[in-house]
Amino acid sequence: MNGGDGECSYNRMSVVQEYALHGLQPFFSEAVHQMTLPHQPQHQNDQIQLHEGVPCLRLADFGSSTGRNAFLYMEFLVTRIRQEYKHRNLHMPEVQVFFNDLPGNDFNSMFGLLPPIKHEDGESGRVRDYFAAGVPGSFYGRLFPKESLHFAVSLHCLHWISQIPTEVTDPESPLYNRGSCWIMGGKLSIAQAYSEQSKSDFQKFLHCRQVELAPGGILFCYMSGRTDFPDPTNQTKPERRHRFLAGPDFEDTWEDLIAEGIVTEETRDAFNLPLFCLAVEEVQESIAKTGGFEVIRLEVLEDLPLCPDEMRMNLLQNPKKCAKYYSSWVRSLVEPLMTAHMGSECTDAWFVRHEQRIAARCRAMLGDAQAQEDYKFFSADFMLVGLRKL
Ligand code: SAH
Repeated sequence: MNGGDGECSYNRMSVVQEYALHGLQPFFSEAVHQMTLPHQPQHQNDQIQLHEGVPCLRLADFGSSTGRNAFLYMEFLVTRIRQEYKHRNLHMPEVQVFFNDLPGNDFNSMFGLLPPIKHEDGESGRVRDYFAAGVPGSFYGRLFPKESLHFAVSLHCLHWISQIPTEVTDPESPLYNRGSCWIMGGKLSIAQAYSEQSKSDFQKFLHCRQVELAPGGILFCYMSGRTDFPDPTNQTKPERRHRFLAGPDFEDTWEDLIAEGIVTEETRDAFNLPLFCLAVEEVQESIAKTGGFEVIRLEVLEDLPLCPDEMRMNLLQNPKKCAKYYSSWVRSLVEPLMTAHMGSECTDAWFVRHEQRIAARCRAMLGDAQAQEDYKFFSADFMLVGLRKL
């Protein structure tokens, strides 16, 4: 993700992901309702017995990135949990929230956006009623002590895999991904290698959270999902491929750069997007292999909008503006990967061509309301996973 607060920063462009959150609120609520709440034991004389310890509610966000979204999710969650305590007639303990991401994440920008802590009841303005801490490290490994967390979330519009399967980047291997930078509509064997990597990653993630959650704690994830289980090359339905972030416009932009001699075919072939949309069956397999969880929810929500219809249709009336906006969103997500691969000059050139392609696509649709309606970019299929630790 792009750090800072620039035009293509994750912070600015993540309004798209923020919109998706609103659609997920009922699912958060459902999970909170099923959670075991740590609370002070009720003593007859109402005295706290110190040897039992004062409970603290610990929440963690895995892959929180640099933007404001992480705070919005957590504010919503803390408020919802507060209601649940009230509803169950229990005293709510103090809350600690951990924000995790990779060590290279721009934690400085993120904590610069953190609302001030609430010191006194009745304080006005946007305040935070939890203690915050950053936890750098990969969520594919252990990050917290055993049974220390009560609610873990991991919210990703895109499901990143930890590494590209090695054969896919080996020019001598039959799985070398020649002529493409991703798997959609490509060779089945390459997509299957991605699937294996993704399942193994997800299992590692589940295993660590299973150890870190207290019994009755919740793990709630959303990420890109797919509906065609048998064919992982169908990362999204064929009729919707053009809308996908890494769809034909993404692949064709590489072709533009190669045709203009800006990068070689080898440079493109060696670049692979570490993305994979899991199917329900694959997630089920990982949950079963991990064990120790009860499934509250597991489903793919198809075609979930990432922005209001009105905003999408307005953008489409202005191809240049639309292309700038959409391309900046894509940039906020993948620029660091591209810069690491081919440097910032070629990456800049890449995004100029990408923007031109999107603008041309939008211009061709001007005046054709049906085509604009069908384009429906800023929508995606989402996998929802709600688990309760046994
Ligand atoms: N949760 C935020 C951001 C999602 S983007 C939102 O919904 O808006 C995904 C984030 O996960 C990125 O910031 C990326 O750096 C982080 N990430 C990817 N792999 C990770 C890993 N192995 N461990 C920790 N964070 C990771």
